[in-house]
Amino acid sequence: MRSNFLPFHVPCVGDEEVAEVVKVLRSGWLTTGPQVRAFEEAFARYIDVPHAVALNSCTAALHLALDSIGLAEGDEVLVPTMTFAATAEVVHYFKAHPVLVDCEPDTLNIDPLGVEKAITPRTRAIIAVHYAGHPCDLARILEISRLHQVKLIEDAAHALPASFNGRRVGNFGDLACFSFYATKTLCTGKGGMATTANSEYADNVRIMSLHGISKDAWRRYTAEGSWYYEISKPGFKYNMTDIAAAMGLVQLAKCDRMWKARKRIAELYCAGLRDIEDIVLPVERAEVEHSWHLYPIRLRLESLRVTRGQFIEMMRERNIGTSVHFIPLHLHPFYREQYRYSRQDFPNALSAYESLVSLPIYPSMSEGDVFDVIEVVRDLITSSRR
Ligand SMILES: *Cc1c(COP(=O)(O)O)cnc(C)c1O
Repeated sequence: MRSNFLPFHVPCVGDEEVAEVVKVLRSGWLTTGPQVRAFEEAFARYIDVPHAVALNSCTAALHLALDSIGLAEGDEVLVPTMTFAATAEVVHYFKAHPVLVDCEPDTLNIDPLGVEKAITPRTRAIIAVHYAGHPCDLARILEISRLHQVKLIEDAAHALPASFNGRRVGNFGDLACFSFYATKTLCTGKGGMATTANSEYADNVRIMSLHGISKDAWRRYTAEGSWYYEISKPGFKYNMTDIAAAMGLVQLAKCDRMWKARKRIAELYCAGLRDIEDIVLPVERAEVEHSWHLYPIRLRLESLRVTRGQFIEMMRERNIGTSVHFIPLHLHPFYREQYRYSRQDFPNALSAYESLVSLPIYPSMSEGDVFDVIEVVRDLITSSRR
């Protein structure tokens, strides 16, 4: 047995990030400036999308994406129940309503059939989460969004880098939103990015991220700018700092390397666990490239004597950290009470939730760490069979 605890996640931060952040700290320019511009340009090139606007979180990106499409009070936005709080809470900022949709049983992504059924004359947008980093069925979801003239926003918090039919995720929706939170595949402590091909949306996100002011701080306070500014709309304080962007630039440069390391871990898990009948491994459809942000396995509880909670506890006792992604939104008190959802309303999400366990997957894990996880999972499953 391992003598030390293997955490569920450790951010991949090295000397280079430290050096670049220190340079910014010594430069005299800490907030939105040249590093942010360089990060936005490099990110837009990486995704191959015309515009990228850096923000202080993915939640901010989702909020300003909805602002950009003109979401209004009473509108409806289709959101998967299998997601994190942020995806749906932003809809409430507008006094609009998130309408929850069940997931596909294999990918746990929003179900296109469910999307189609949930569309009403009040539906303004679909927020599609690429769960765990496996792209949604973008071909069908795009078709539905065009047919019904509803906007598509990608919640790509898990999906850097991921692609669908050879095209990078972040390119399909009217806007897409990425997260650079400490636990995500590119981290700046906290941070986010909105990408879009629409220059009006990009301008709106940029302006609304800094008080609705028509010129950003960088241009205002350098010699080439001026003291004059205009407020076009009451905005928010969502801009990214140069400190975070300096870290983001280093992280972006090693994004592919970090992805290959996670992909390798996913392959080792698959090779080491696929013969166990009592667990279901994540799928990767032929038309996608998975980011492998998460590695969620599912327990076949009907053939085991333990609950998912007990399994997680036994993993912890054997020094392996795990997590659960996600507690579906419809099971939370707010959604239950506000929208009268019951547990059985979304059967795929419910049955997945009861059996989900996310295994650790991050670049600094050694092969030994991965084999330890495999061994513990195998042992626990074998000893827990009915
Ligand atoms: C992490 C996460 C977010 C929010 O990202 P922040 O950068 O922390 O605001 C949104 N959606 C999903 C699916 C996430 O996992």
